[in-house]
Amino acid sequence: MTQDKDQLIEAFRTAAHRQLDQWVDLQTEMLTSQKMPTLRQISDQFTQTRSILLGGCLQEMTFQLSACYRAQETAPCPCCGNLLKRHSINAKTLQTMQGSITLERPYFYCHRCKSGYYPLDHALELADEAYQYDLQEKMLCLGIESPYSTSADLFKKLTGIAPSGHCLHETLNRIGTLAPIEEVIPSEIEIVRRIESVSTAGDDLPVLVIASDGAHAPTRPTGGRSGRRGPGKWREVKGFRIYLLDGDERIVHIASWHQIQDAAQFTKDLELVAARIPQDRVNIALLGDGAEWLWNAMVRCFPKARQVLDYYHCSEHVHKVAKLQYGDSLTGQQWAEATITRLFMDQTGSAIGGLKRMQPSGGEADKEIRKLINYLTTHKHRLAYQECRDTGLPIGSGGIESANKHICHVRLKRSGAWWLEENGNTMLRLRCAMYNDTFDTVLNSYISKKCLKTVV
Ligand SMILES: [Zn+2]
Repeated sequence: MTQDKDQLIEAFRTAAHRQLDQWVDLQTEMLTSQKMPTLRQISDQFTQTRSILLGGCLQEMTFQLSACYRAQETAPCPCCGNLLKRHSINAKTLQTMQGSITLERPYFYCHRCKSGYYPLDHALELADEAYQYDLQEKMLCLGIESPYSTSADLFKKLTGIAPSGHCLHETLNRIGTLAPIEEVIPSEIEIVRRIESVSTAGDDLPVLVIASDGAHAPTRPTGGRSGRRGPGKWREVKGFRIYLLDGDERIVHIASWHQIQDAAQFTKDLELVAARIPQDRVNIALLGDGAEWLWNAMVRCFPKARQVLDYYHCSEHVHKVAKLQYGDSLTGQQWAEATITRLFMDQTGSAIGGLKRMQPSGGEADKEIRKLINYLTTHKHRLAYQECRDTGLPIGSGGIESANKHICHVRLKRSGAWWLEENGNTMLRLRCAMYNDTFDTVLNSYISKKCLKTVV
């Protein structure tokens, strides 16, 4: 170890001891109180005062490590390379998990490029905002789980630092806006790794399920200057979930993606993910309800895959006809069960025949019967449930239903919450990243993008 480093360590030790002494002075009241404090009281006292100790140490360490930057009198312009003379030294107060610190940073200005530059900010990867990235990360984690005001209260309780709900909202929007699908979806290498982690019997390929579905999100138009907004409206969130079925039908998640968007954009997004999947190394099943947009997209991206109409959606349609035709009677139940069994046994033709022979009990029943005939005819090639069961393919898309609930409904459907479309999508991207285990990738990439932008 060089002498310089030894000196640095000793200087920090001395400074840290000084901080510790100051902090110990704050504990005298507790140490000398008549009544012995409870463990909780002692712990709470430490929580309240730890930023004085740790913030002080952080300030000292940053100060010592940045000595050469603070002394810097010239620096090359990051844009044109011109050697710049120090313009001024400006102080900035930063909030971190350990407490707040103040840094004095030399400032350089290039008259040619008309832009300023803080080399120390760049070296320390400082956020432009007062709340630094260690805090922003935790603000995100809470903000994507609970409404902003609740998150802000929890944040204060857990860290002793009190950002406003608005600040959490802004932080989340800033980071989520720069989270593209390319980063929210796991990389090709990671997808292959997850595929290889799945065990299969003999030479069987692992089963990969692509399930798509729509959910509903409450959206509102942008408010005008007058503060008058138009009425809110429910928009469809189009989403897909891709997962593997392990030997015992355990789900190994690969990727979820949900956005308030049109069918064309949904298709583009699915194409991007499809390009990362080695389609010849998995046995692919496409699952969905009757919506045309999802089948068009899935078949286009996975043309060789087995298509499966979601069994539960299909059963629901049958039950609807039973109810309109027979009411809540036993006959209705028996008819529904017999029809579903036929579909399950791959006897779609006979199920359709039965429907065609039915004498509708009224106008509504007639309409629903026709709809069901049409539905079964359109999706006939997606109804081979028995064959799916025999070859280990799933017949129900429970996986996407739970993703819809967990990713979209839990956070977006709150009483009184109406989302601007862009903010709703930002929230969905971050929630997908958390679910896909790409949250760190997204955050690190955001920080790199911000730090590449060195000029101010
Ligand atoms: Zn320049």
